[in-house]
Amino acid sequence: MPNYRDLLQQVKTEITEVDAPRASELRDHLFVDVREQDEWDEGHIPGAVHVPRGHLESKIEAAAPDKAQPVVVYCAGGSRSAFAAKTLEELGYENVASLAGGFTDWKRSGFPTQLPHTLGAEQRSRYSRHLLIPEVGIEGQLKLLQSRVLLIGAGGLGSPASLYLAAAGVGTLGIVDDDRVDASNLQRQIAHSTEALGEWKADSAKRTIEALNPDVNVVTYKERLTSENVDRILADGWDVILDGADNFPTRYLVNDASVWHDVPVVHGSIYRFEGQVTVFKPNVGPCYRCLFPQPPPPELAPSCAEGGVLGVLPGIVGSLQTNETIKLLLGIGEPLVGRLLLFDALETEFSEVKLRRDPACPVCGEHPTITEYVDYVEFCSGRPAHA
Ligand SMILES: [Zn+2]
Repeated sequence: MPNYRDLLQQVKTEITEVDAPRASELRDHLFVDVREQDEWDEGHIPGAVHVPRGHLESKIEAAAPDKAQPVVVYCAGGSRSAFAAKTLEELGYENVASLAGGFTDWKRSGFPTQLPHTLGAEQRSRYSRHLLIPEVGIEGQLKLLQSRVLLIGAGGLGSPASLYLAAAGVGTLGIVDDDRVDASNLQRQIAHSTEALGEWKADSAKRTIEALNPDVNVVTYKERLTSENVDRILADGWDVILDGADNFPTRYLVNDASVWHDVPVVHGSIYRFEGQVTVFKPNVGPCYRCLFPQPPPPELAPSCAEGGVLGVLPGIVGSLQTNETIKLLLGIGEPLVGRLLLFDALETEFSEVKLRRDPACPVCGEHPTITEYVDYVEFCSGRPAHA
């Protein structure tokens, strides 16, 4: 039986796709947004009609009665709309195109979007300390509210990151985590409480976030990132990936996916009293493979499950990652692109190392040699854990 990727690949050969620059020129086309209500509410292409994918067959004829009218159908990342385009063709629409890269690419390319016009009274109060900063203001806050951040892991780094992103009003948070809350996590993973023991971390974090800020929509993926699911998860459309994974297989998958989907990764790692943060921005700075083209041989890999870490350290590193993420979303400041920030918690010392792009990088270099996902074997003995 074909899996999701095969099916998507197949459908994409049967339909027409247009990229954002091309779509922006198609002014005589009707834009049909097939995303869910909450996604539509966070902003959409001006003039588009909204027909969620689940209601497409029953509602499209009311929204678009003239089947000769050319249509551009879009979702967040271009997958749902591919299937929707196929459906519209089957329903007799004569000229249908799917927006490749979806609303996320459209927005990132700087084409106009229609925002909710302003903040409600409760939001003005909630975000008042942001509104007072000229670099954020109402416009920046609206931008945050329609931003989408994918968190890899709801552990030590993902906990503070998810809480601060939620508090800041980042409208959609995706959480990829296949682990359950264990007593040994609570020393540092502050998104989880004692009463969440045994629960999925993704569910526990979602509950904490929703209690903190009802403006935030949390999408959970209770699965381990693999070559099989990474494209599906990325296809949901994300502005930034915040990587809080502590194992090599995930780190390499995230890296390769980020280059191929052109999404920046805010990377963090911790060990005992030492933390590191950097930003991998595809085509601008180095990627992870520019620095480490391949994982180390198993005998040289540090043991990740039993590393040990000072409980507050992921709080510091995860907060630094959140700071980078918010800057990227707002387009302000100097992100840590090509710069590795090192933190020594015992000495309370920050230092910085310059990182360079490698033209011979196997993924983002001039002649890539890796063009498909690689599932590396987990090296450390014992159960893999998020930091
Ligand atoms: Zn690279």
